[in-house]
Amino acid sequence: MPVPLVDVRAQYERLIPQILERFQAVLESGTLILGPNVQAFEEEAAAYLGVPKTVGVANGTDALVLVLDALEIGAGDEVICPSFTFYATAEAIMRTGATPVFADIDPVSLNVDPEDVAAKVTERTRAIMPVHLFGRRADLAALTPLGIPIIEDAAQAFGAQGVATTGVASTFSFFPTKNLFALGDGGLVAATDEELAERVRMLRFHGSRDKKTFLYVGTNSRLDELQAAALRLFLGELDGWNRARREAAARYAELGLGEFCELPEDEPGHVYHMYVVRTPERGRLAEALSAARIANASYYVTPTHLQPALKQFGHEEGFLPETEKASRENLALPMWAGIPAEIQERVVSVVREASTVGAAAS
Ligand SMILES: *Cc1c(COP(=O)(O)O)cnc(C)c1O
Repeated sequence: MPVPLVDVRAQYERLIPQILERFQAVLESGTLILGPNVQAFEEEAAAYLGVPKTVGVANGTDALVLVLDALEIGAGDEVICPSFTFYATAEAIMRTGATPVFADIDPVSLNVDPEDVAAKVTERTRAIMPVHLFGRRADLAALTPLGIPIIEDAAQAFGAQGVATTGVASTFSFFPTKNLFALGDGGLVAATDEELAERVRMLRFHGSRDKKTFLYVGTNSRLDELQAAALRLFLGELDGWNRARREAAARYAELGLGEFCELPEDEPGHVYHMYVVRTPERGRLAEALSAARIANASYYVTPTHLQPALKQFGHEEGFLPETEKASRENLALPMWAGIPAEIQERVVSVVREASTVGAAAS
């Protein structure tokens, strides 16, 4: 049996009867968009995250754009963000007409390096958008003293300790591989600033509060009732899922994986959205894993600043050395809530064999 990188189905399989029960209730209600489940989920998510308000939206990319729009960030403005992240982070900034200014990363946490962020602040900087990459919190305590609004891209970190309570707003994606997921697309904006949340709430529905008077140029970006019904159920499972991910990460370490590559540094509250190791031998290990039919992935192989869509900014290779190094060395191994120990043992034994053979050959 081939091993997937993430087995989404294994995580929700035992919940299918409860999901269907909730779907049945939604179908019988006849309310399919922005109904009582969305409202209840927004309240439950706010309580979970420890923020006053959240707003359900269509996906995590819209969540980012809506926050930037609500802050009236656009042409002529700069937003500092990492390049070592999913493309949507900088894309959202560019969608508003603003310029993404890239900060390099810390090689251990893989999150933005606060010193490089500070070095890139100009009089045009309107916001800093750190990403809590792979489920690990970015160093917000070091960014706060800069006195610039922080927008947390928390798409990969629902449930990670200390996420969403620092930034003016934080954004989440419920794409099915994320820690908290929907059965399709979904997203959320969590705001510590209630006025900002209210503005996002209007912008997700054409800039209107009452569907008659249109105050802003908004968009249509709503969360469905069916998705919200599933999300309410899954929110109750999330801590258990994240605990299971932490146990799986600990097991990789116990199995001795650290002899062959650099393991992600553990810290309390890290929720391991992905399990990403580093090794200069990535090519050899990836090949051996694929040959053993074990899925693996290398993230952000072309980091955002070197993507064709950003060629007008003229970034060249060497601009962000730690980002570019991480792009060459990272390797994601199978990880999900409830991944069987036997699978992890197979992964480690394939890595061990490839490393030993490689060492003998060189
Ligand atoms: C997944 C993700 C997004 C985008 O979320 P979608 O729901 O797919 O639009 C944005 N930023 C990061 C860091 C992500 O991982």
